Amino acid sequence: MKNIFGITLKNLEDFFIENNDKKFRATQLYEFLYKKRIYNLDNMPNIGNKNKELLKNNFDFSFIKMKKKQEDQDVKKYLFELKDGNFIESVLMYHDYGISICVSSQVGCNMGCKFCESGRLKKVRNLEAYEIVEQILLIEADIKERISHVVVMGIGEPFDNYDNLKDFIKIVNCNKGIDIGARHITVSTCGLIPGIQRFMEDFKEINLAISLHAPNDKIRNQIMPINKVYKIKDLFKILKEYEKKTNRRITFEYIMLEDINDSKECAKELANLVKGLNCYINLIPYNETENIEYKRSKKVQILSFYDILKKNNINVTIRKEFGGKVDAACGQLRANQMGR
Ligand code: SF4
Repeated sequence: MKNIFGITLKNLEDFFIENNDKKFRATQLYEFLYKKRIYNLDNMPNIGNKNKELLKNNFDFSFIKMKKKQEDQDVKKYLFELKDGNFIESVLMYHDYGISICVSSQVGCNMGCKFCESGRLKKVRNLEAYEIVEQILLIEADIKERISHVVVMGIGEPFDNYDNLKDFIKIVNCNKGIDIGARHITVSTCGLIPGIQRFMEDFKEINLAISLHAPNDKIRNQIMPINKVYKIKDLFKILKEYEKKTNRRITFEYIMLEDINDSKECAKELANLVKGLNCYINLIPYNETENIEYKRSKKVQILSFYDILKKNNINVTIRKEFGGKVDAACGQLRANQMGR
């Protein structure tokens, strides 16, 4: 039985039509679920008994379980247990501009980025759309506030789970659903070109972020195995097409790793690589973990890297640091839960 929180409005309308009812029944149900946040069919007065039976017989209304929460001043990290006993995590961050949530899209990840705690635990399975949606619903219930921004950048490679990602975005962006504006939704990929191709056809308004982390193939091959399949030249070719088609600014994430990708030469090479693209670079001080040998770049190195990009007229920011006290590296809470 499919879980109701993974069903797009269009699919729910089709369901009612197939069952000889009107499509506005779908909007009625969506109102209860996403506007009023009532999840028990018995507490939905507008839905008739016949439709309640129909829905109960066809959809599962259950939730994943919130197992653990760690908090710091401006960040909360959540561990969720799925129905099959797997674990995923989400991170909530308070910014000056709103509240954002970073959701997971897979149990584990097969991309194998060398600096990533999530990548150490291989992919077990894709998350279904409802398991991504419910991360938001449960966290909003916990903080008793609505989230303004969603980033798909937690555990997993979203474009390796494209169909579920697509339904998730439709539900989150739908004005009768969770209703978060397209400009406030970002999907981050390590560079799966077929996924970028589909994404630019399906979602021209949604933000795209690329986990770049290196200015050339030599370094990128070393830290991101996916680069051996989709090289930087091919990645940038598709990004130029993306820019043309969508007119959107691309974000590049760049984790600063000491003596790996943080030299002045790397900064100059990076500036040349992105020159001419409508983009901005987010420099991320690395969150060290005891399981991985990489070190965070020194502050002075990050600042000099930043200055070189600025001098080359590249839009660049240094990411505010979140969650030093809360097992901050992506995947760390889950890894600890699993005793690895
Ligand atoms: S950085 Fe992202 S794509 Fe790479 S291993 Fe980690 S979760 Fe997967």
